[in-house]
Amino acid sequence: MVRAGTEVSLADTIYDVAVVGGGPAGYTAAIRGAEYGLKVALIDASPKLGGTCLHVGCIPTKALLFNAELWDHLKHAAEFGITGIGTPSLDWAAVLKRKNDIVTRHVKGLDFLMKKNKVTVIPGYGRLTGPARNGVHTVEVDKNGKKSEVKAKNVILATGSEAKMLPGLKPDDRILTNIEILDLPHPPKSLAIIGAGAVGVEFGSIFRSFGAEVSILEFLPRLVPVEDEEISKELARLFKKRGIDINTGARVEKVERTEGGVKVSFNDANGKPQVKEAEKVLVAVGRAPQTADIGADKTRVEIDRGFVKVNETMETAEPGVYAVGDIVADLPQLAHSGSMSGMVVMAKIAGRAFRPVRRDRIPGCTYTEPQIGSVGLTEAQAVEKGYDVKVGKFPFAGNSKATIVGGHDGFVKIVSDAKYGEILGVHIIGPQATELIAEAVAVMELEGTVEEMMFTVHAHPTLSEAMLDAYGAVEGMAINA
Ligand SMILES: Cc1cc2nc3c(=O)[nH]c(=O)nc-3n(C[C@H](O)[C@H](O)[C@H](O)COP(=O)(O)OP(=O)(O)OC[C@H]3O[C@@H](n4cnc5c(N)ncnc54)[C@H](O)[C@@H]3O)c2cc1C
Repeated sequence: MVRAGTEVSLADTIYDVAVVGGGPAGYTAAIRGAEYGLKVALIDASPKLGGTCLHVGCIPTKALLFNAELWDHLKHAAEFGITGIGTPSLDWAAVLKRKNDIVTRHVKGLDFLMKKNKVTVIPGYGRLTGPARNGVHTVEVDKNGKKSEVKAKNVILATGSEAKMLPGLKPDDRILTNIEILDLPHPPKSLAIIGAGAVGVEFGSIFRSFGAEVSILEFLPRLVPVEDEEISKELARLFKKRGIDINTGARVEKVERTEGGVKVSFNDANGKPQVKEAEKVLVAVGRAPQTADIGADKTRVEIDRGFVKVNETMETAEPGVYAVGDIVADLPQLAHSGSMSGMVVMAKIAGRAFRPVRRDRIPGCTYTEPQIGSVGLTEAQAVEKGYDVKVGKFPFAGNSKATIVGGHDGFVKIVSDAKYGEILGVHIIGPQATELIAEAVAVMELEGTVEEMMFTVHAHPTLSEAMLDAYGAVEGMAINA
């Protein structure tokens, strides 16, 4: 029954914490709890730890994306003076194998970390059984119908999410979610994507690089609708340049299998009926929290449209029961919001110092070509909140390292408050945007101002100098533009 860590009789052991769900939110919490010296059990329904992120999310997609980037570079090798490599070809089976090997390696890494930290891993499906009795909660664990109990002073729910489907549709070999698309036997010649959030645009970007004709259908008026409007505009411009067909304001009416593929019928932004035919369709319309059957109804845990309501220490209305990750109401469904919330909970349980997760300081990264990295308020949100908004914008075209790496598209945009120079938001689209955003997160966490950043030395020649110039641009004083 017990997979890693110490062999114990479960019924006799009272853990300090039982974590239900072994994705990034749950496994990070488990490790951090053990680091604090807490006795931790980690219950996971899947035979392999890692959750969506490791198996069918962050990691496999970024593995494919790296292949796509290399492939794009190879296509332009001559521009970099590299010739004589003939016509490169894509060994798709090897691409998939590399992706799968990366996942396997990290699953093993997690098993190792659980052993190292003496976290007891318990395979099976966990459910709350009711409120705590004498300060001890009981989680029922169901492994293929065989039930047992895990007792713990605290429980952390981290059961994650699954892809939403359009009504009446079921995933198959042509109608895909993030799961099926990761193991296609070959890159599709054409791909229709419903939904232009991070998942939709990332797959669009990847498969466009691998040669697919990509059509994106988005109900809202712009791509990546949670980003600053100028970022959406720039992504749309650059996607169009790459030959990606963009249909915003599109209301999908029907998805049907045809003889050789799929047909998506939709009403366009003008309400005119349209049809897109493709070899495959990816449905990327958001993720639903997995909370229907976790025993919340037997407790005071409050659920709002499937999401668990928590306070700033991630505690639910049931004392001693916490929730972290994709199931939490109003928390961005990102691996790092989940893992940080898990770390916060464990610090709280262990009685150690912590800072609650500030939801406006969680970076959002979209791994398209080019990448997007953002944190904080968009310009429109800042205006809406009544700030006297001052914006600085610097294009990568003025950055020497961007020229060196052949990445002139995009910009850095700083949204600040004119009164004190407070940095309210940073929005980057361009080369390595997902790495560059880390500086902005740290600065905002430390409440740095535009002026302080204008006098913070950035190494030359680096992409991060574009940040320095963007801070300067807030005061109309960028050096390189
Ligand atoms: C295609 C794609 C790409 C993504 N890329 C990124 C990215 O680049 N960066 C990023 O930050 N985020 C990304 N995400 C989002 C990220 O994957 C999720 O935010 C993250 O996995 C959520 O972590 P979690 O621990 O809350 O849940 P999950 O990762 O979903 O893990 C939940 C775990 O709980 C287990 N479980 C469920 N119910 C029970 C139960 N009752 N009992 C026991 N175990 C249970 C499951 O088996 C699973 O292991 C991506 C998502 C997708 C779909």
